[in-house]
Amino acid sequence: MGQETRFTITPHPSPVAADERAVLLENPGFGRVFTDHMVTVKWTSDKGWHDAQVGARRPFQLDPAAAVLHYAQEIFEGMKAYRLADGSVTLFRPDENARRFNESAARMAMPDVPEELFLAAIESLVEIDRGWIPGGEGSLYLRPFMFASEPFLGVRPASEYIFCVIACPVGAYFKGGAKPVTLWVSDDYTRAAPGGTGAAKCGGNYAASLVAQAEASRHGCDQVVFLDAAEHRWVEELGGMNIFFAMDDGSLVTPPLGTILPGITRKSLITLARDAGIVVQEQPYSFDQWQADAASGRLREAFACGTAAVVAAIGEVRHAGGSFLIGDGGTGPLTTRLREELVGIQRGTLADTRGWLRRA
Ligand SMILES: *Cc1c(COP(=O)(O)O)cnc(C)c1O
Repeated sequence: MGQETRFTITPHPSPVAADERAVLLENPGFGRVFTDHMVTVKWTSDKGWHDAQVGARRPFQLDPAAAVLHYAQEIFEGMKAYRLADGSVTLFRPDENARRFNESAARMAMPDVPEELFLAAIESLVEIDRGWIPGGEGSLYLRPFMFASEPFLGVRPASEYIFCVIACPVGAYFKGGAKPVTLWVSDDYTRAAPGGTGAAKCGGNYAASLVAQAEASRHGCDQVVFLDAAEHRWVEELGGMNIFFAMDDGSLVTPPLGTILPGITRKSLITLARDAGIVVQEQPYSFDQWQADAASGRLREAFACGTAAVVAAIGEVRHAGGSFLIGDGGTGPLTTRLREELVGIQRGTLADTRGWLRRA
């Protein structure tokens, strides 16, 4: 990291008052309440990364021709900072987010953000907005992102970008315990094709999933689950979460990497399961097989996973041809066990034997 990428820190001149903040932290919801500050770093093709700032959170001034507004050259990450019982603050595997951010950047023809710059940006924001980290079951959700800011309507990778980090205090994703989710299997829409951007965490993937998510809502479902684009046969993932299946022989099955987003929660759960002697098969699983296994009882549990919700049981699946339950429609024992183990490590109530936590 060059000298220019040392952060200039300008604290917010009138941050939210402590009593007002305490009220906001009582029930922050998800993604609605923001902290006082933001981090911004600029990149231009001639200067590289420069002008690293920690300052008051405020709107961007963007030229209406900024490339991101036209061609969607944008990527993001999602990660959490936790306040542990002893008052210390930790991040969960932030190096994995940094690495994935750069994989997304490479796919979207954007510049690499050096890992130390990415981590320093995160840590600077956590430091200055430390008072916004809820205790208890809450956490501080961090949203690093990068977009093409160059005003230019020609189609080519932009020559100017902004890397930014904002943060929101969030409560427990599921209030009053995790209720199993109901999934809608989309017949009409897919989220990713071989050679496409499915493995990149880019805003465009989400834009393309919204109409399918709306269809899921119309059918009374919480989330959409996508099948592969080529054969429309293999289960891929949800709009923003990976998926696991627990079989009656004690093994887990999860779709392989390729067109799906390589979730850090997915990767961590695979490690936890394998370390506990559970066989985890990363292999294609068809929707037909899913229905047959749910009917025969071979499939015992299914769950979705991601940073926001951690692990969420799947209780029911609906599709154009009908619906079926997974097990008794509740949260199964393996789902509960893996969730508790991962949450325990993140929250510091279980030993972090793998070096996953980073003090912030
Ligand atoms: C972010 C994301 C996930 C989950 O990734 P985590 O690293 O576990 O939070 C899964 N699917 C999609 C499409 C995502 O964008």
